[in-house]
Amino acid sequence: MLDELRPFYDSFSSIDELCDVLQPCPITTKDNTRVFPLKERVYLKLTIADPFASYASMAVQIIGPTEEVAHLRHVLSDGLGNWDVELDMHKNLLHIFDLCYFPMPAEIDLKKDDDEQQRCNICFEYRLDNGEVPLVSCDNSRCVLKCHASCLKEWFNTLVEGKTFLEVSFGQCPFCKAKLSTSFAVLLKN
Ligand SMILES: [Zn+2]
Ligand SMILES: [Zn+2]
Repeated sequence: MLDELRPFYDSFSSIDELCDVLQPCPITTKDNTRVFPLKERVYLKLTIADPFASYASMAVQIIGPTEEVAHLRHVLSDGLGNWDVELDMHKNLLHIFDLCYFPMPAEIDLKKDDDEQQRCNICFEYRLDNGEVPLVSCDNSRCVLKCHASCLKEWFNTLVEGKTFLEVSFGQCPFCKAKLSTSFAVLLKN
């Protein structure tokens, strides 16, 4: 391994070990993003644009319901100012969000692929061939349905009136009509 690349692999190895990385799947050495849960319905997407400059080129995106994301973005931008270069990426992120650990799947949990609750409510699959899992939920906390970002995109495309998808609003939940957060758009980019 090239020594200059060590920080890149080291930063992701603690994330891979200690977070419930949902995407990409499977993880290859070429992947420079990780998506994992921060809390119920909210996910973090880490991107390291330049493996030779891990921290300098790192981006942290928060994906989830609108209000939650707005609040957590403030927490994140405050926290990034206090980034401790002595600590790894995983520990810094825990500090920023005031957590002891990121959520991991419960050991006795059903395998996600077998759990109907986890499936996409448009295509009824869990993991798609491209590795994508259903992460999009709407702003209505009582609506428990989740979808793949790509399934929603396709669904919006089929609507005759042509709903806005990636611009001002991500659109409405197909099930309860509540708002969908624009933060989910980052799931469509790799
Ligand atoms: Zn789907
Ligand atoms: Zn809904």
